[in-house]
Amino acid sequence: MPLLEVRSLVKQFPVSTGLFSRRWAQAVDHVDLTVNAGETIGVVGESGCGKTTLVRCLLRIIEPTSGQVIFEGDDLLGLDQPSLRAKRRDMAIVYQNPYLSLSPRLAVRDLIGEPLLTHTSLRGRALIDRVVENLEAVGLSADHLNKRARELSGGQAQRVAIARALALRPKLIVLDEPTSALDVSVQAQVLNLLVKLRAEFGLTYLFISHNLDVVQHLADRIAVMYLGRIVEFGEAEKLFRRAHHPYTMALLASTPEPDPDIKESSVALEGSVPSLLAPPSGCHFHPRCPWAQDRCRAESPALRVEEGRLARCHFLVERLPALKN
Ligand code: SF4
Repeated sequence: MPLLEVRSLVKQFPVSTGLFSRRWAQAVDHVDLTVNAGETIGVVGESGCGKTTLVRCLLRIIEPTSGQVIFEGDDLLGLDQPSLRAKRRDMAIVYQNPYLSLSPRLAVRDLIGEPLLTHTSLRGRALIDRVVENLEAVGLSADHLNKRARELSGGQAQRVAIARALALRPKLIVLDEPTSALDVSVQAQVLNLLVKLRAEFGLTYLFISHNLDVVQHLADRIAVMYLGRIVEFGEAEKLFRRAHHPYTMALLASTPEPDPDIKESSVALEGSVPSLLAPPSGCHFHPRCPWAQDRCRAESPALRVEEGRLARCHFLVERLPALKN
């Protein structure tokens, strides 16, 4: 049984378009996803593709419109608040910017101690010992206990955010662009730390990023999202070696150091992600796709398996032999 199974998840937002009118933006559009225990799943796509909305729906930070989120056999969307709170012990999230996600009023001891106070019986010396244990796990020490986030460097503050997420020894940690607000020199250190913690605590990660390069270091499988839909999903190593969907190819080509083998079949990404309020007809990617044909404008492609990879494109069967060469 997967640790987490997402079934046909939908999230629509009402958007006011005038004094008495509104329209619906579909930020997550019937997403299916499985995450096995111990696995790292990368979810990638440009800003506005729906990846952050997806993970917030999974944790019920915002309420999905429909679908199912099965975590360890229970549908989180059907749980009442006390049951959901109990389940949340096993799930944590690390946000992009630690200076925004960590309360500026609280010292590090309280930032990490808060979830322990709420969910465990640890108090006094035992509580502080556990906080220090968490700090040491992320490469900090008791010297940081009384500091506030603003007194820490970006890398240190993100380590505190990770220690807080780790405090209750969750099974699943959602990493929402955890390195994109950090200096390049610090990014690699934080990624290495995440690799170490995964092995040490048997963690499962759902890693959200706009940058395929960053996800490559950790992910076992990668889901590529475009305008609320998954357009490609498969093993990371194979996806990097040979993308199937033209949007994935374009993302790979736009990474700072694209693999020279991939460049052969690369697709230049022009324009920006269309508005969720007026998604293109048929295949949402058609205005930017170099392969687009009339059928793409009229008919939405299904996500289907070709060569062990899920991809959403009408012309995959015709294109795949050419991509091999
Ligand atoms: Fe491009 Fe058409 Fe495939 Fe969409 S369905 S990715 S527009 S070729």
